[in-house]
Amino acid sequence: MVRKAEPYRIKMVETMRIIPREARERALQEAGYNPFALKAEDVYIDLLTDSGTGAMSDHQWSAMLLGDEAYAGSKSFYKVKDAVADIFKYEYTIPTHQGRGAEKVLFPHLIKHKGQYVLGNMHFDTTMAHIELNGAVPINLVIEDAFDTQKEHPFKGNFDLEKLEKFIQEKGKEEIAFIIITVTCNSAGGQPVSMENIRAVKQIADKYGIFVNIDSARFAENAYFIKQREKGYERATIKDIVTEMYSCGDSFTMSAKKDAIVNMGGIIGIKNNTELFQAASATCVPMEGFVTYGGLSGRDMEALAVGLYEGIDEEYLESRIGQVEYLGDELRKRGVPIQWPVGGHAVFVDAKRFLPHIPGDQFPAQALTNELYIETGVRAVEVGSLLLGRDPDTGKQKVAGAEFMRLTIPRRVYTDRHMDVIVDGLAKIAERRDQIKGLEFVYEPKVLRHFLCKLKPIGLDPKKGEDVSPMVP
Ligand SMILES: *Cc1c(COP(=O)(O)O)cnc(C)c1O
Repeated sequence: MVRKAEPYRIKMVETMRIIPREARERALQEAGYNPFALKAEDVYIDLLTDSGTGAMSDHQWSAMLLGDEAYAGSKSFYKVKDAVADIFKYEYTIPTHQGRGAEKVLFPHLIKHKGQYVLGNMHFDTTMAHIELNGAVPINLVIEDAFDTQKEHPFKGNFDLEKLEKFIQEKGKEEIAFIIITVTCNSAGGQPVSMENIRAVKQIADKYGIFVNIDSARFAENAYFIKQREKGYERATIKDIVTEMYSCGDSFTMSAKKDAIVNMGGIIGIKNNTELFQAASATCVPMEGFVTYGGLSGRDMEALAVGLYEGIDEEYLESRIGQVEYLGDELRKRGVPIQWPVGGHAVFVDAKRFLPHIPGDQFPAQALTNELYIETGVRAVEVGSLLLGRDPDTGKQKVAGAEFMRLTIPRRVYTDRHMDVIVDGLAKIAERRDQIKGLEFVYEPKVLRHFLCKLKPIGLDPKKGEDVSPMVP
């Protein structure tokens, strides 16, 4: 298949540079072998995240000038509300400063008592945190195939429906706070959930009277995959697919920093539950701000209202996901093991296979991420044992199902030539993979350690007076 060119041209550019190899080595050492601590200026191509890193369009930038400064009843708010009603067909909209703000405001109203379970295909980390902060227990019920990186499966984000129903029957429906369908399933590698699976989850939920929330950061990419891969949707528009997906939910929480292509913003959508809307509104006011701005300026909401439509433009999605597929294809041609098929927003390199000599508790994916920075100046991110952390009861390192290095592609930002830099770099690293060493902690914070920890390569002589102070950006 011949790929079409990007359906946009570049109107404004930002110069970037690659610092010399010795400077990269020094920067990484100073960062405690943790790329989170690198200064963005010392990074060449930044693939840490696709969150808030997209390039806004001329339409979005010009819409920002229309943003009002209104507090109550902002006209910009009504544009977001109208877009939500039009695309998702949900009656109520509450803006929030980002996705986790939406979780913080909504979740307390869905969890009835401590110890209840929240069932998901695979929860995102802030989602998991907000479930736990409310005393509930997050459970992941994604299909087993999600963990087999070499297995061909069109919808690796699907729920294991048998496990889902069995869990509900075993614990009793009163013990289930709600179900979260994450589209696409970020933690499983940006893998989509099929319409068939979404519908089946809703049927099970209805059977037991359980509420369904859709975690919606990548709603448009999921819809595009349905169009590409699921029978019966070849001719449907992305918008119609989104509407159908959301007919299976009762509410959604959205980080608008992904598929809605804004630098900051989030949304709570509630289908038709006035009581829940009123309860969430009362929480929003003290937490995020009045319900017609929720921590956003009028300008932010204008860009968001436009971005919701640009995000579901099929030509854009074809180009966007086509670029991620291009990177995945080129890596496979060069023998780099990746999660296959690739997800919507990222390519996940299988570090367990790439560096089989490094055990999980020495963080092979982090070692590979560091090596990629040294080789190319590209910043990726570890999604494996380092991220997973320790068992809170035993203090033992948990065993990760997969050790991934995530190459996260920002929207409308980099060209395919930038992708080639990554491919060439990883092919070069493969030649000397045996020399790459695992890592050990120099400083390990108790919670969310991957953001702030300091490491060193195993066997590296500790320097005299080594700096073990916590990271201060
Ligand atoms: C990013 C994300 C969130 C949290 O949103 P923020 O905007 O980063 O606060 C929640 N769920 C999923 C699936 C995400 O990708």
